[in-house]
Amino acid sequence: MNNTFFPGSNGVHGRARPIVTEPDERLHTESVDVNKIDSEVCSLMEDMIVSMKQNNGIGLTAVQVGVLLNVIVVDVAAICKSDAVSRQAAPNVVFLRMANTRVLQIADEVEECTEGCLSYPGIDVPVTRAKWCEVEYIDNNSETKRLKAYGLLARCILHEVDHAKGIVLIDYLSRLKKQQAINFFRKRNKMITKANEHRF
Ligand SMILES: [Zn+2]
Repeated sequence: MNNTFFPGSNGVHGRARPIVTEPDERLHTESVDVNKIDSEVCSLMEDMIVSMKQNNGIGLTAVQVGVLLNVIVVDVAAICKSDAVSRQAAPNVVFLRMANTRVLQIADEVEECTEGCLSYPGIDVPVTRAKWCEVEYIDNNSETKRLKAYGLLARCILHEVDHAKGIVLIDYLSRLKKQQAINFFRKRNKMITKANEHRF
């Protein structure tokens, strides 16, 4: 195994996997639940944490490393560092490792905030989301957990739950702007492919 220790990940042992970016049909496809938390799912979670940290993300869903499983990781420590609202009721963990996450309840009160996404580099989209959410998930020890999250932590979890359903940032844009964004990423992809052709 090519496991590398990534110093920023608090002792997490995994290997970075490439991040899937638009255009890619997988980003628009719903993921399936995991049957059980086996060693494969656990190493996927560790790899996702390393991939997230390496790209300065605060959350990541398995589809973003090309695996269509309902698996999410969240950097709780990084979120709490920057957001006092999240800190109020955050779980006492550095990273959340979540499988088969379900939203049980969301706040009626909403808030608009600009979001970025590792699969959509270079664009920010204003997204209106509930101020808090309560979710149920299975952790890496196969335990079913419930979590009520507020602020940025809630926003991050809801963003990742979207990913698992095949819903992405550009789905929150108007039809015209969404098409413009798709064209932007198609062009960007062509330029990257071209650049790679001439790499010596
Ligand atoms: Zn994202």
